[in-house]
Amino acid sequence: MSPADGAGDPGTLVIHAPASGERVGEVAITTPDEVRAAIARARSAYEMWRSVPLEERCDRLLRFRDALVDRADELIEMLVKETGKPRQEALLHEVMPIVDTFTYLSRRAPVILQPKELPLHLFKHKKSVVHYVPRGVVGVISPWNFPFTIPMGDVAAALFTGSAVIVKPSEVTPLIMKLTKQIWDSTGLPADLFQVVYGRGDVGSALIDGGVQKIVFTGGVATGRKVAAACGAALVPCVMELGGKAPLIACADCDLERTARAIVWGGFANSGQVCVSVERVFAHREIYDALVERVKALTLELRQGNPERDEVEVGAMTFAPQMDVADAHVKDALGKGATLVTGGQRHQPAGAPGQFYAPTVLADCTGDMMVMRAEIFGPIVPIARVDSEEEAITRANDSHLGLNAYVFTRDRKRGEEIALRLEAGSVLVNDVLTNHATPEAPFGGVKDSGFGRVHGDDALRDMAEKRHVMTERIAAPAHDPFWYPYDAKRFKLLRKGLTTLFAGNGLVQRIASIF
Ligand code: NDP
Repeated sequence: MSPADGAGDPGTLVIHAPASGERVGEVAITTPDEVRAAIARARSAYEMWRSVPLEERCDRLLRFRDALVDRADELIEMLVKETGKPRQEALLHEVMPIVDTFTYLSRRAPVILQPKELPLHLFKHKKSVVHYVPRGVVGVISPWNFPFTIPMGDVAAALFTGSAVIVKPSEVTPLIMKLTKQIWDSTGLPADLFQVVYGRGDVGSALIDGGVQKIVFTGGVATGRKVAAACGAALVPCVMELGGKAPLIACADCDLERTARAIVWGGFANSGQVCVSVERVFAHREIYDALVERVKALTLELRQGNPERDEVEVGAMTFAPQMDVADAHVKDALGKGATLVTGGQRHQPAGAPGQFYAPTVLADCTGDMMVMRAEIFGPIVPIARVDSEEEAITRANDSHLGLNAYVFTRDRKRGEEIALRLEAGSVLVNDVLTNHATPEAPFGGVKDSGFGRVHGDDALRDMAEKRHVMTERIAAPAHDPFWYPYDAKRFKLLRKGLTTLFAGNGLVQRIASIF
């Protein structure tokens, strides 16, 4: 049974815990009319919120941050139940980054969103300023793998920039947003400023078509194409955060122990259901055998089971169909000559009757295997042997996806050089996964991994609308020489001006070198 089903009532999503099968809760599906009404209420809330000075907005949003901290145990418990992820990951990968983001933005947003005066290179008599003004209502459509940290990062950006925001969580994991909304409502902040609508893809479509001013979508490539097309038809600007197939290049000089530990943590955290999971390892032949052995040993030490127990490191698969996907990857790889190092099948830990897949390591992987080409989104790490760094770079770039990439080498300068040659939105040297938790750094992909960025200064400014205001530094003449009337004499003058201003080391170049 899928964790989300209607249990007979087509208007309800009933959620069952992936680790135990127990019923966790339910939400009523939002109808299209209710989605439109939610957008209208959000619009009114935005009209009020936009007029609140930015510094005051920051202060007020800290009330929500404090409520999240106060009720962190409830959030963690719900995340563990609803997704099957271990408690430590619910705390460290979900709750903590969002609490940090609200804290960070409350201090930094006024600096990042400061009006920016443009140094005009020619029109020195004019003053040009870009203001970052609120957009209106932002829609956030989010996946099930990080059902708190992914939408709430976008919620924070929308609220700090003065917009209202509506989240459509995945049908698989809606309950954490239901709890988050309750926490929001308990703070006395305007209820309609942050709302949640529940349901399947059609509810997401209703949000896009309902009159929002921006969509931030995180999900799979296939859905992303549909959402981008719908945004295009409605002329709604959008950010697309799509799938990943992160390569990890293990150079001959890498710190073998750190590299092996990074592969194991980066491959199996959240049972591999991470868009930036280590999904392909390219290990230099000089360290290949030792690395495979160490990865195997570390994987065998992992404790998989009931995620409510503090010592459990690998929990359940959140979304049952991913078990079949994992099986298909393993079967295809073994059929094409991969070596099964460990795992490779479903697993039933003692006392945990739910949906688990054993942490799996495959060696001798080649480029024709599905496991090296398609997103896995499960606890499987495929390892390939390469003869050189050049080969590793070429094979790492041979993918339609480009979200994160990783390089492990003791030569940090060389690591940075390799990073610049990898086709990915972010490249980490001697580290994995952690960049999503840095609110300063832009996060997003290239190629089919999407476009636009979340996090970082530019993404915050993009969450706002840019309003360019141009004024005169000195009183403008009644008869502007560039306006009507046109005549032959003036054309001649302007034509001459073109040469004087721009040819060779013309006036424009000389003016630019002075200022
Ligand atoms: P999906 O693409 O299936 O769904 C994402 C969201 O879109 C869900 O809320 C889904 O609703 C909704 N949706 C589905 N169809 C439509 C539609 N036609 N219009 C509007 N909304 C729609 O992704 P998953 O939930 O399966 O998440 C896994 C994927 O997300 C992986 O590919 C992963 O790599 C990617 N991801 C990317 C990240 C990034 O930052 N780049 C981070 C995390 C995950 P419902 O669930 O109810 O169908």
